[in-house]
Amino acid sequence: MANDPELDLCGRLIRRLGSLREMLPGSFVERDRKCGKPNCRCADGKQLHHECLLSVVWEGKPRSFHLSAELAEQVRAKVEMRKRFEESAGKIASLNLRRFLRQKEEK
Ligand SMILES: [Zn+2]
Repeated sequence: MANDPELDLCGRLIRRLGSLREMLPGSFVERDRKCGKPNCRCADGKQLHHECLLSVVWEGKPRSFHLSAELAEQVRAKVEMRKRFEESAGKIASLNLRRFLRQKEEK
């Protein structure tokens, strides 16, 4: 097969995906809420508790995992990795669809 710059680009995109190997599923959720304790500082709705969660479907069920401040930034980055992974996968598949349609026409 002759030089195929699009196929070369797919190869480069695939190789870059290795840097995303620690990706996580689900959504990173950040919110402020009341804890429900009547005597807590949050009870009047002014000083709410800030929390970060990883929200995923795990073994078929929606689950939320509470994240410490330390874990939150790692998890945010790893969820972001999956978005980049999916964007790259979509780009690679589109390039290959274009190649496929071109090859089909040439026959
Ligand atoms: Zn509270």
